[in-house]
Amino acid sequence: NKNFDVIIIGGGPIGIACALEAQKKNLTYLIIEKGCLVNSLYNYPTNMTFFSTSEKLELDGIPFISSNPKPGKREALEYYRRIATSNDINIHLFEKVNEVKTENANSHKVFTTKGEYTAANIIVATGFYDIPNYLGISGEDLPKVSHYYNDPHYYATQKTLVVGASNSAVDAALEIYRKGGDVTMIVRQAEIGQRVKYWVRPDIVNRIEEGSIKAYFHSNLKEIRENQVVIDTPEGEDVLENDFVLLLTGYRPNFGFLQNMGISLSDDGKKIPSYNEDTMETNVPGIYLAGVICGGVETHKWFIENSRIHAKMIMEHISKREKASA
Ligand code: FAD
Repeated sequence: NKNFDVIIIGGGPIGIACALEAQKKNLTYLIIEKGCLVNSLYNYPTNMTFFSTSEKLELDGIPFISSNPKPGKREALEYYRRIATSNDINIHLFEKVNEVKTENANSHKVFTTKGEYTAANIIVATGFYDIPNYLGISGEDLPKVSHYYNDPHYYATQKTLVVGASNSAVDAALEIYRKGGDVTMIVRQAEIGQRVKYWVRPDIVNRIEEGSIKAYFHSNLKEIRENQVVIDTPEGEDVLENDFVLLLTGYRPNFGFLQNMGISLSDDGKKIPSYNEDTMETNVPGIYLAGVICGGVETHKWFIENSRIHAKMIMEHISKREKASA
């Protein structure tokens, strides 16, 4: 069957939450996920700890049991996988949605890397983790440069430059330093970000103060070379010896994907997609948004705790519409 009441694009926590709600409403649905199950989460750093406690990561009141105050990536993968398998979630993995074409408010065509589907309703729950904020500097495409950080061991004894001062950058800098890496941070602002987890911030501030981790504030990375980096500091340009560069300067949703579907974005620089806050329906009738995608460039605005509710809001609206048109 290639015809559904709802197609959910993205098999992250919020896509899965939508599937659970669709099941409750007896709607036919399919999740299409371009990577593995909860792909974004799978690609988070190995040792990451959530800033949320486990209750706040729960879907549909299904208990997330963790013996730690804040669960780690392994536990979260286990939790979401068990929800998907125990509830027999209908999901296609490793299939990417390339395009959605709206024929009318009740019929949307979905084109993927593996086929074509039709759905009365579409939910876009594609998150923001697939597209890094590129700096656009020379050398950014060298093999020693990455926009994603995974494990500290790789950087042991190596001169590693970490660009950024938010949670991802700080976690990476601390872990790599503790595994014997020689870490330098490049921070655009005057200090380490205020949104850094409150129990981690003092750690990084103290490591920088004692000189274990070097940091250049009010500074920018200008150029990356094979064995060096060029940085702009308030004292002028500096050239540092370098083995690896981690550009942890954040990620952004795939705005082009939304615009191709006809979803409009705010023009105040925030690129917030247009949607009704009561129903989550976008300006394109029958297309809904769920999860962190809703924040535009403000990717910190929505997270699991405050966006899991989208699933219920959307399914409530869809099932009313379906009943009305039946
Ligand atoms: P995602 O989990 O990003 O899921 C979107 C899915 O869509 C992905 O699996 C992606 O592969 C898929 N996709 C994208 N495009 C397509 C396409 N064209 N076709 C098919 N599939 C597609 N939030 C919290 O609540 N608490 C935390 O402690 C927390 N810690 C975080 C730590 C890190 C390092 C990061 C990066 C984020 C953290 N977040 C945290 C935010 C967290 O990412 C989101 O809250 C959560 O993943 C949002 O779920 P989502 O389903 O909206 O998006």
